[in-house]
Amino acid sequence: MKDLRSLNLEEMEELLKDLGEPSFRAKQLFQWVHNKGIGSLEEISNFSKSLIEKLGQVVSLTPLTVATRQVSKDGTVKYLLSLEDKSYIECVLMSYQGTKSKNRNTLCISSQVGCAMGCGFCATGKGGFQRNLTAGEILDQVYAVTRLEKWNNEDFKIGNIVYMGMGEPLINFDNVIKSINILNHPLGQNIGIRRITVSTCGIVPKIRELALYELDIVLAISLHAPTDELRSEIMPINDKYPLKQLKEACIYYIENTNRRITFEYALIEGFNDKIKLAYKLAEFLRGMKCHVNLIPVNKVGEDGFNRPTKARIESFHKELVKLGIEASIREEKGVDIDAACGQLRGKMLK
Ligand code: SAH
Ligand code: SF4
Repeated sequence: MKDLRSLNLEEMEELLKDLGEPSFRAKQLFQWVHNKGIGSLEEISNFSKSLIEKLGQVVSLTPLTVATRQVSKDGTVKYLLSLEDKSYIECVLMSYQGTKSKNRNTLCISSQVGCAMGCGFCATGKGGFQRNLTAGEILDQVYAVTRLEKWNNEDFKIGNIVYMGMGEPLINFDNVIKSINILNHPLGQNIGIRRITVSTCGIVPKIRELALYELDIVLAISLHAPTDELRSEIMPINDKYPLKQLKEACIYYIENTNRRITFEYALIEGFNDKIKLAYKLAEFLRGMKCHVNLIPVNKVGEDGFNRPTKARIESFHKELVKLGIEASIREEKGVDIDAACGQLRGKMLK
């Protein structure tokens, strides 16, 4: 049986045509599933009972369930979500202080159960890889969180999406692209395309493929080190796609989309925080329209990666700016509940 949440408008049109229904029904169905985020077919109040029954024979709708909801002292919320096959994923809601008229709710969503990339500093990587999420499971993180938060706040809406939860989104390419298009659809959540960020550890051929879609999303690259020697030490993917290839793909992406790229650089004490590496980083970035996010590394167990002092972080930042690189230090959220970058595990018990 097809999973209804994974269907886009064209596929719903096809489905309803096969059931002998007029095409406006597909639009209605799309709105129920992707705008209202229903948890069961019975909620479709403007479909007849017999149509709902007919639908139920060809499609399934099994919503994710929120297993736990943890609130950080800075207001960040982490959700552990249970999937149909009893595996777990996590997603994180961050609310930035903005003007009232601006929607600043950002949801950090997962694209896979686990991750196969094995980055040394990341909790998800340590847990290994289970499977890709379906497009419907990616989307239902947004719907499940919205369903829940609406209990407290009727006006609750997510305005920004970052694919920075568990997993490597470009390995689950088709489902990620499909979910982006559905989130952006005017009859769905209608989330602005520029308010959607996809973060990758650097899957070179997929960056090139993404460039051809000319989607106005924000592409973020997890760089973390400016030389092959250092990068390979913490990111195995660098052996497959070293920095020269990565840079060529980034230039291709920027030229095709006319968008700047965000580079993420997790600062690790004594490893990649030396001033001479700021020079190396500037050298690597030279000629690319970009922005650098400096992230003080988050602690994951006893892995030996520590944050540099505030003073060192600031001097690294200053040096980059002096070298003409646009850079900012990222405000970390949810560290106390293991909801910050790289801390997601998707496990019921720690
Ligand atoms: N797989 C994708 C997206 C998920 S990770 C990627 O790697 O880009 C989201 C971001 O958190 C990435 O930039 C990742 O490198 C970073 N990250 C992972 N572990 C971290 C840690 N311990 N501290 C800080 N950032 C971390
Ligand atoms: Fe996977 Fe990203 Fe973690 Fe690396 S940092 S293991 S690519 S989730």
